[in-house]
Amino acid sequence: MNRFAVRFTYLLPIEGEPIEDGVLVVEDGRIAAVGRWGEVALDGANVIDTRPSVGLPTLVNTHTHTAMVAYRGLADDLPLFKWLEEYIWPAEGKTVSPEMVRLAYRLAVAEMVSGGTGAINDMYFFQEAAAEVLEEIGFRGVLAEGLIDFPTPSFGKPEEGIRIAERQLESNGRYRYVRFGVALHAPYSCSEALLRRGHELAKHHSVPLHMHVAETEDEVRQITERYGKRPVEFLDSLGLFEGVHFIAAHSVHLSEGEMRIYAERGVNVAHDPESNMKLASGVAPVPDYLRLGITVGLATDGAASNNDLDMFSEMRTAALLHKVVRMDPTVMDARSVVEMATLGGAKVLGLDSLIGSLRVGKRADFIAVSLDRPHLQPIYDPYSHLVYAAKSSDVDWVFVDGRPLKREGVLTFVEEGEITEMGERLRRMVLRALR
Ligand SMILES: [Zn+2]
Repeated sequence: MNRFAVRFTYLLPIEGEPIEDGVLVVEDGRIAAVGRWGEVALDGANVIDTRPSVGLPTLVNTHTHTAMVAYRGLADDLPLFKWLEEYIWPAEGKTVSPEMVRLAYRLAVAEMVSGGTGAINDMYFFQEAAAEVLEEIGFRGVLAEGLIDFPTPSFGKPEEGIRIAERQLESNGRYRYVRFGVALHAPYSCSEALLRRGHELAKHHSVPLHMHVAETEDEVRQITERYGKRPVEFLDSLGLFEGVHFIAAHSVHLSEGEMRIYAERGVNVAHDPESNMKLASGVAPVPDYLRLGITVGLATDGAASNNDLDMFSEMRTAALLHKVVRMDPTVMDARSVVEMATLGGAKVLGLDSLIGSLRVGKRADFIAVSLDRPHLQPIYDPYSHLVYAAKSSDVDWVFVDGRPLKREGVLTFVEEGEITEMGERLRRMVLRALR
C-alpha cells in the first residue's frame, strides 16, 4: 500500500472550516484522513511538510479549448465573430491535427498543473489524441468533440462528427482520468436537428452535454431573429436541458425568465470572466445565479481568448469584476470564489463524488500554495490570500490521484527545455500553415 501524509499551515477541506496546522493522509490515491496535526493517526506514514502553506483541492477549469494554447496571442483585440471567422477558424482549419493536439495539450497541461489546476472540461477536436496525453500525465478531463454544422479539422459533415462522438462515448470506462462527453458548439452554429441529436447522445450515454450559450448580444439577436425566442428559451423549447447534465458556458445574456429556466432545469454554468472581458461579451449575472441556487464553476475558456489558463487570475478577476459592476463590495466574497473554483467546478463536471473537496474517501487531488512569499505575509485569512494576493506561481505542490505532478515547485512530468521546445514547434506549425 502506498501511504503518505502531507502537512500544511492551513488546510481548506472546502466542505467544513479551515484547519490550522492541518494534515492529509493519502492511501493508494485516496484521502484516508483529514484533520489537525497531532490528532490524526499517522501510523508511520512518510510526511511531506509543505509549510508555510495553504492546502486545498485542485482547481477545476469548467470550460476550455485546451489545444488553443497554440494560438495564444495570434490575434487579439477583436470582436468574437470577426475573431472566430477571420482568424481562429481559418488557422484551425489548416493546423489542427492529432499531432498538433498532442503537443498543445502537453504544453497546456504543464501550464495548468503549474497553476494548481487538476481537472478540465474541454470542447475541441481529435479528443482521442488529447485523452492519450491526459492518461499519460495523469490529469483529469471531461472531453468532447465540438459538434457544429460546418466542416471542422476532424470531420466534414455533422454526421461524421456524431460518429466520432459515438466512438469516443463507447470507449468510456477504458480510461482512468478521462471521460468523454458530448459538446454542441452553440445555438447559432448548430441546426435544430444537430442540437436534438447531441442531446439524445448525451442522454443515452448519461454523460455531460456541454455548450456555449448566450455568450454575446449578437447571438441573442441572431437566435431571436431566427427562432423568435432568446437562446435559453429556444434550447428549453427543444427540451435540451431535460434528462441530461447540462454545462452552459458563458451564459452572459439571460433574461430573468431564462435564469429561472436554468434554476428549474438544474443547468450548470461555466463562468469565464476574463474571456468575456477580452472579447467584450459582457458580464454574466453570476451573483443572481448563486442567489437562485444555480451551480457555477470558474473557467478560462481557450488561451486564444484569455490569454492563459490561469485559474488564480480567474478567481481574482471574478471576485473583483462583479463588485465593480454591481457597485457592491460584498458580492463574490473570497470564500465563495474559492468554493466555485474547487467544489463548484467539480459539480459542474459531475465529478464531485471524486474530487472538489478534501473528504475521506475522495480521490487525493489537492495542492499546496506556498506562503513563503513577500506578497503573502502576514496572513489572517487563507481564503482572502488565495483570491486577492496569491498567484498561480505560488503553487508548490500538485497531487492528482495521490500522484505528485508538481513537487517543490517543479513539474514532475516535463523535461528541462521541453516547454520552450514545444512552444517553438507549435509556432512553426501555425506560421507555416498561415503563410
Ligand atoms: Zn469557449
